[in-house]
Amino acid sequence: MKKVRVAMCWDDGVFTDVKAIAIFKAHKAKATFNLCPGSAQNEDVMPRWVMAGQGWSYNGFIGGKVGLDNIRKVYGDFQVASHCWKHEVAGNCQHAEFMEGAIKAREWLENTFQRPCTGFAWPCGGVTPEAIADLKAAGFTYGRSTKNVSDLTENKDVLDLASNCHFMARDFINRYENAKKNCGLFYFWGHTYEMMDYDRLYDQLDAKIKYISDDAEAEWIDVVDLAKELQAKIQG
Ligand SMILES: [Zn+2]
Repeated sequence: MKKVRVAMCWDDGVFTDVKAIAIFKAHKAKATFNLCPGSAQNEDVMPRWVMAGQGWSYNGFIGGKVGLDNIRKVYGDFQVASHCWKHEVAGNCQHAEFMEGAIKAREWLENTFQRPCTGFAWPCGGVTPEAIADLKAAGFTYGRSTKNVSDLTENKDVLDLASNCHFMARDFINRYENAKKNCGLFYFWGHTYEMMDYDRLYDQLDAKIKYISDDAEAEWIDVVDLAKELQAKIQG
C-alpha cells in the first residue's frame, strides 16, 4: 500500500471552484465538494468584488455560485456532500431546522447525481452532540468540522471529523510529510473563494496538488473512503 492516502474537500459550491477543478483534473486529484443547493440559483452567479462592509464578503470578494442547472456538469467527476440546504448552522438555528437542511441537501444531491452522497460538512464548523447523533441515525457516514489535528487518529468520532489543516496553512507540506510518518492519512479543506481572483494563489494551490500527485508514495482517495478507513483505525 502507498505510504499516504490523501483527501481534500471544498465548501459552499462557489463559482471559483471551476478554476480549482481545472487544477485538480490536470493532476488527477480526487476532491469532494460540500454543497448547499438551497442557496444557489438556477443560473451561475459570477465571482465579483464588492465594497467591503456591505454585507458578507471575503476581503471584499464574493466567489459567486455554481448554478443548479450547471452543478452536474461542474462536479460530475468528483464527490459531492451535504453542507445543508441553505447553510444552516448547528447550534445557531432550531435543531429540527438544521436536520431538515442537512437531509434535504443530501436528497437533492442524490437525486441530481444519481449516487449515494453520505458525506457531510458542518456549516461554519457548528457542531452539537444532538446533531451528531441524528446525522448518524439518518445514515450520514462522516461530518467534517473546521478543527485541526496533527494526526487524524486523534479523532474520536468521524461524525465530528477534524482534518489535518486548511489548504493555506503555512506548514501545509510539513503536515503532509508528518502524516506519512504517522497514520498514513492526510486530509485538508478550504473554500476556493479564499484565493479570490489572484492567479498567484491558484498557482500555489497548483504547486501543492502537484507536489502530492508527483509523490510516488501518495494516493488520492475520496473523503468518504478516508472516513471509512479512519473509522476502522479509531475502533482499532
Ligand atoms: Zn460553508
